[in-house]
Amino acid sequence: MNAAAEAYVKLVLSVGEHDPDYVDAYYGPPSWREQVKSNTPSIEEIRSSAEQTLQDLEKIPPSTGEIVRLRHQYLTRQLQALLARLDMLRGRVFSFDEEARALYDAAPPHHPESYFRTVLSNLEKMVPGSGPIVERYERYRKDFIVTLNKLEDVFQAAIRECRERTRRMIDLPPTERFALEYVNNKPWSGYNWYKGDSISLIQINTDLPIYIDRAVDLAAHEGYPGHHVYNSMLEKHLARERGWVEFTVYALFSPQSLIAEGTANFGIEVAFPGSQRIEFERDVLFPAAGLDGDQAGEYYSIHRLTGVLNYAHNEAARSYLDGVMNRQQAEEWLVTYALMARERAKQRVRFIDAYRSYVINYNLGQDLVRQYIESRGGTDGNSVKRWEEFNQLISSPRLPSGLRP
Ligand SMILES: [Zn+2]
Repeated sequence: MNAAAEAYVKLVLSVGEHDPDYVDAYYGPPSWREQVKSNTPSIEEIRSSAEQTLQDLEKIPPSTGEIVRLRHQYLTRQLQALLARLDMLRGRVFSFDEEARALYDAAPPHHPESYFRTVLSNLEKMVPGSGPIVERYERYRKDFIVTLNKLEDVFQAAIRECRERTRRMIDLPPTERFALEYVNNKPWSGYNWYKGDSISLIQINTDLPIYIDRAVDLAAHEGYPGHHVYNSMLEKHLARERGWVEFTVYALFSPQSLIAEGTANFGIEVAFPGSQRIEFERDVLFPAAGLDGDQAGEYYSIHRLTGVLNYAHNEAARSYLDGVMNRQQAEEWLVTYALMARERAKQRVRFIDAYRSYVINYNLGQDLVRQYIESRGGTDGNSVKRWEEFNQLISSPRLPSGLRP
């Protein structure tokens, strides 16, 4: 299987020469990348060697050990997704649902407009003030913006807390660390660039106002126990301990991303079980941001409900990419059903332009990861077991289709 794994790494690097967003991280042998750069195979050549590698994998007899079996399934499915991405680069147009299945190994649910209306009518009762809920929500949230001069302190406090909580439960390499950078003009709001050796660069986009909930979201999602820890664990357990080279490369448009985004989002709850997040926000982050900590409880009740509206992003992306809605209608949908301010909705449609059906990885990914971990006893009431299952998941090559209980 090691030969197929090496072929896989070189194939991913080769696709990266045709698709600049494809390789999200690489810390394997630098000579492999140089080789691919100086002698880049054509899309046709990549396609035929990917098919060859798949045939080679098929010939390997099934293993009795679970982790090796998962490795085999992982390599196979990642290669199938790579072939689908090649088709897209050659101009094939998938429907949103076909693309999600081909690239992310998952079938996104369909939610009718009425689903979001029901959530919004519940929010109507919770958000103070009068007028349309979109405007009311925007007005309410204005009081929870973190001013730029307080941003660094607030983020650092959130990162410290998330790191400590994660360190208590996961054996992180002692040299792990990340750098934080503030950037502008990006289609995303935050990004983790994994460099290898348990080092990440985390970028935060400050184009739009940053609300207090972003501090923990970002510290946990991009950092602890999210992307930074996920990549560190794959490196430690699979790339280094087992010598599985396929984990030194991360193909963005692949099933791996559903696990990465799903665990990064679910990791917030893992790090802060029960009411612990609200307590930490009330006692530490709100004061650091100069906000009234007594409002943390209400703010996060509303925040939890707006989280459900994240599925509205999928509906906007599906309709927009399938040609049912134009850009403006997609923005309008996000404003109405995801309660996004106009500028944020515009940023989101730019994200959809670039990353397409990737949007499902955040919400569906989170729900699939939650269901999987809870089905194994890792419930909110049993946080030790939940950490164990979480750690296990981010240290193994499990596919999205393997999360179904
Ligand atoms: Zn992410």
